[in-house]
Amino acid sequence: MDLANPGVLKRLMAQYGLRPQHRLGQNFLVDGRVLDAIVAAAALEPDDLVLEIGPGLGTLTQRLAERAGRVVCIELDRGLVQVLRETVQKASSNVEVIHGDAGRVDLHKLLEERMAPGQKAKVVANLPYYITTPLVMRLLEEELPLTQVVVMVQKEVADRMVSPPGSKTYGALSVAVQYYTEPRVVLRVNRASFMPQPDVDSAVVSMRLRPEPPVDAEAADFFKVVRAAFGQRRKSLVNALTTLGMDKATVQAALEAAGIDPSRRGESLSLEEFAAVARKLFAPDGGSACGGW
Ligand code: SAM
Repeated sequence: MDLANPGVLKRLMAQYGLRPQHRLGQNFLVDGRVLDAIVAAAALEPDDLVLEIGPGLGTLTQRLAERAGRVVCIELDRGLVQVLRETVQKASSNVEVIHGDAGRVDLHKLLEERMAPGQKAKVVANLPYYITTPLVMRLLEEELPLTQVVVMVQKEVADRMVSPPGSKTYGALSVAVQYYTEPRVVLRVNRASFMPQPDVDSAVVSMRLRPEPPVDAEAADFFKVVRAAFGQRRKSLVNALTTLGMDKATVQAALEAAGIDPSRRGESLSLEEFAAVARKLFAPDGGSACGGW
């Protein structure tokens, strides 16, 4: 059954009395070329465990199951879970379908129960757009045993993920994604590749998890500075960072000690510069503040 064929998808939905749920971001991929590019970007090996979020009707799942050792999917829509269990899961012994909300499922437990100690998984997904950013942040911040995350996201979100400092789209998401991973845009995807067509274009982003933080700063301190800097985007750094509960003179002295002009805006700072500010604000006596992940 070629699930990338729109006619096949429509018949399957009709057979189960289902309709695409807009509120769950149900835009199904119907473009074989894009599906192949996603699978290729994940460079799957026969012993890989893949976690797929939002398998839908199983179009991507089917292809993942051909390459990976095991595919574990989390789908929120009960109707789709039923279809998946009766089609893709039945046809492929290495597919497991879990009914749940990917934002709430205990992912550490889920992975630990299915992997050998020391093993790491990959996340591959065409994400529901309404929760892309919190889901990606969750995957990164929870420090799950992952080597790579390959996801289809809205084009604008992909641009933010890979934005360099100083660009209009550089923000807290760019810093977080670049802190935890090495991201790259694999493919830009036209809205015509989906059924039903969404109102926006998309892109596939591959994020390779870094084994070590790329900069020398305690993660909690680093992200406090990042959040404060971008929380007050239009303000100078010195004014934005006073929201950390420090007086202006202290912030000014820390910025100067870090070699950063206090009148700059947060959006111009590189990861290295955010780390230098965090060290001067929270570990001013010198020494490495880096505590690993
Ligand atoms: N993977 C399929 C494909 O590429 O055709 C479907 C992708 S569709 C963009 C997103 C899928 O995520 C839908 O099947 C939707 O029901 C599911 N979904 C939405 N919110 C979810 C959540 N919180 N947890 C798990 N799945 C969710």
